[in-house]
Amino acid sequence: MNRKRLLALSLLLTGLLMAALGPAAPTEEIVLVRIDASVVEAMDSSLRADLTAVAALRSSWLLALPESTVQRLTGAGLRFEILDARTAGQAYFLVRLRGEADWAALQGVGRSVRLEQGTALFWSGDREAREILPAGMRFGRLFLDTALPLERTGEPAQPSKAPVGDDPQIVSLVAQVSKSRLTQTISDLEGFLTRYATTPGCVSAGGYLYDEFAKLGLAVDFDPFVFSGNRSSRNVVATLPGTVFPDRQVIVCGHYDSTSDRPMSLAPGADDNASGTAAVLEIARILASTPLDFTVKFICFSAEEWGLYGSKHYAEQAAASQQDIVGVINMDMIAYPDRHPWRFDIICNENSRELGDHYRANASQYAGLTVNVLTFGSWPYSDHSPFWDRGYEALCVIENEDPENPNYHTTSDTLSTLNLDYAVLAVKASLATVVETARIAGTPAAPAGLIARTQIVRSLYLKTKTVNLHWNAGADDVVGYHVYRSTKSGGPYELLTTSPMEGTEFTDRGLDVSKTYYYVVTALDVQGRESRPSVEVSDKDGTWI
Ligand SMILES: [Zn+2]
Repeated sequence: MNRKRLLALSLLLTGLLMAALGPAAPTEEIVLVRIDASVVEAMDSSLRADLTAVAALRSSWLLALPESTVQRLTGAGLRFEILDARTAGQAYFLVRLRGEADWAALQGVGRSVRLEQGTALFWSGDREAREILPAGMRFGRLFLDTALPLERTGEPAQPSKAPVGDDPQIVSLVAQVSKSRLTQTISDLEGFLTRYATTPGCVSAGGYLYDEFAKLGLAVDFDPFVFSGNRSSRNVVATLPGTVFPDRQVIVCGHYDSTSDRPMSLAPGADDNASGTAAVLEIARILASTPLDFTVKFICFSAEEWGLYGSKHYAEQAAASQQDIVGVINMDMIAYPDRHPWRFDIICNENSRELGDHYRANASQYAGLTVNVLTFGSWPYSDHSPFWDRGYEALCVIENEDPENPNYHTTSDTLSTLNLDYAVLAVKASLATVVETARIAGTPAAPAGLIARTQIVRSLYLKTKTVNLHWNAGADDVVGYHVYRSTKSGGPYELLTTSPMEGTEFTDRGLDVSKTYYYVVTALDVQGRESRPSVEVSDKDGTWI
């Protein structure tokens, strides 16, 4: 469990404790404040450790604090800005501003504050941004129960993973990605006319996805949730159980709900996000008959377009039951090559950077695709975000960080405007990354540093040879070794160890002095997987003692 997860857990426990104390405890007003990153850096470390943020912007943090803590900050002489002193009953949204027209549109319907370049905070009582802002405006719900640690987000790490050789299993799986099946799924989803989360079309689309997963022989569940008062919708969750560590899971997901300027009647949402949904289904089709070491969950979220409600519900449940999610790959808009054709953006946070680097290496290795890995503190515009908020590693695959599809959230976001050759590349890269993430790292490395020492043992009537071997200890997951011998260089070898031996030394006695012996050693991991043999040594090469 990493620090962030521990933090989320301790907050959860605190919450339960407070709930147990009952209504006798007076509820303090929660104040939304913004603190400059430089002020946070200069802050006394004990004070900083007590605080968590609800969003990490490029140059500042947003915090939801009880009044008493706000007074403490004032007492400490810190500079900060109060964005809203009365947050009870308010729904807050971060909004992307593409220009002054967007800013003006916000003013007309609620309260708003410009936060930094291109980003504003918007709130208007408990009214849903989805219902009062223009359809084409991008926003993400800001959940005030988020608890991000106030850590300085450093410079993005340099890519650490050099691509390795082709993995034959991944190569054969990636070759099965089908453009025609992706096209068919997008066409089927468009056929529901609208998948706006509150419409019967969305209910039907959820039923269709359920059936498609079930046809693959996967266990499928609806994950129903209530949002925005008394509205309800369902995530669709299919499970491919892991064969070795079923408790560890990898999630591949995309939202299937859609919106437009006429959402109740027509919202084809082909790029946003039938494309990502089709990718989830296609990856499920390919993996259904190839169980991996870890469990893979294929999830189609709903009510993303209303502010990530389906994924928030799911991630909250997962964190509350301490589910071990090793990585989340979310795809949202992957079929319209815009400003940077034939390139995708991968949205990461600092905690997910390694997953992003793996994605980049896999995209290049298995799809010949270039991706741009971008790191943000908060980027609440798709379903990976609620997982970030709970300390899970997650990334978002998108055609562009700031999509330029002119049909975005309109009735003309249709299949005919898409390029499925482009989408296929993202599906291949995602599939490769799911497989890589859901497997225990291949076989252990072959033992290195094998050396033979030879000794001639003389007794009155007999002369024999003793060969002593030793080698370097393997990585942490290596639990034992096998030793093999041959009288011919290159084998065939005879196994000398009936069960794996723990040490890194082996003595072979009573050997014929007239023969030369050749040895190799292999390493075994906790699952009993055996490495390739070490470099061969012979007793002739060794030192005589
Ligand atoms: Zn979307």
